[in-house]
Amino acid sequence: MNTRIVKMEEENLDVQALQEAGTLIKAGGLVAFPTETVYGLGGDALNGASSGKIYAAKGRPSDNPLIIHIARMEDLGYIVKEVPEAAYKLAQRYWPGPLTMIFDKAECVPRETTGGLDTVAVRMPSNQIARALIREAGGYIAAPSANLSGRPSPTSARYVIEDLEGRVDMIIDGGGADLGLESTIVDLTGDKPTILRPGYITEEMLEETLGQVEIDKTIVDGNSRQAPKAPGMKYRHYAPKGTLLIVEGEADERISYINRQISLQKEKGKKTGVIAADETAGKYFADSVKSVGKRSDEEQIARALFRVLREFDDEEVQAIYAESFESRGVGCAVMNRLLKAAGHQVIKL
Ligand code: AMP
Ligand code: MG
Repeated sequence: MNTRIVKMEEENLDVQALQEAGTLIKAGGLVAFPTETVYGLGGDALNGASSGKIYAAKGRPSDNPLIIHIARMEDLGYIVKEVPEAAYKLAQRYWPGPLTMIFDKAECVPRETTGGLDTVAVRMPSNQIARALIREAGGYIAAPSANLSGRPSPTSARYVIEDLEGRVDMIIDGGGADLGLESTIVDLTGDKPTILRPGYITEEMLEETLGQVEIDKTIVDGNSRQAPKAPGMKYRHYAPKGTLLIVEGEADERISYINRQISLQKEKGKKTGVIAADETAGKYFADSVKSVGKRSDEEQIARALFRVLREFDDEEVQAIYAESFESRGVGCAVMNRLLKAAGHQVIKL
């Protein structure tokens, strides 16, 4: 398949290209596009065959449901059975933005889109390219992250092209993703709102609006035997091609432990890498040391994480060590992704 690649800026939309992209989606085609979280791989959410193509293009297991992206609040009612009060409150505060809500689905939503579930995930992105595309495509775009299944989510078009060129009809390059981390997912179908995936909108932020919010324990505990409620969270994810080990402990101890491991790996002829905060990045002797930002700036760390994981792949780094970061605020989502990328391999010093 020939993939058309189109560049545009949020502030300067290419209306004609967006119309063409919308027409492609309405005809059952696939278009990758930027959002404020990560790039999405979009198809017509109300066309089961389109969703089937999304799974095939990504190599994604078909029990891993897609998120439906809408551009207007009034479009929500058509795809869900009922809009609970909590959803109106959250939408008012956090939509458009990096929050996905789970509802009971309406009949018109095909099971291919929901991975066989009776519930449906919905988000309203704020990125202007995404919003214009959704309108041109008829209002409902199913879009998971635009990476091959298992790889880190793409935070720039370069990585979408790397994974999906030749597998989709069009890729819209809208520059770097503002946030760099996938949306928070909150399930509104049970007795209590429950976070199924941590993200930019934190537990505290949701509690400000809703009162008490639960968190699906399986997403923070790598040893849980229970299946996570968001089917996608059970798969190994975000994994770089090399091995990744998280090292937890006081700075001095951690630095000497990691440097010792690096020497051992180098003796074996392995190419080594470290993921560190600005404060300590200068202390490591690895072949490639990548700083993700100031230790206290969880948002910057969130923005850098997936890019850094991809860069290690580009550089063919074989043994990667990561510092551990604070789990508060957005840090909770950062550690969730880092733990998944490492297959929950953590050394506690
Ligand atoms: P992605 O867009 O690639 O981040 O993938 C979508 C995520 O949303 C996956 O982790 C899915 O498991 C989750 N998701 C989508 N729909 C549902 C649903 N109905 N119930 C629970 N989780 C969902
Ligand atoms: Mg994904």
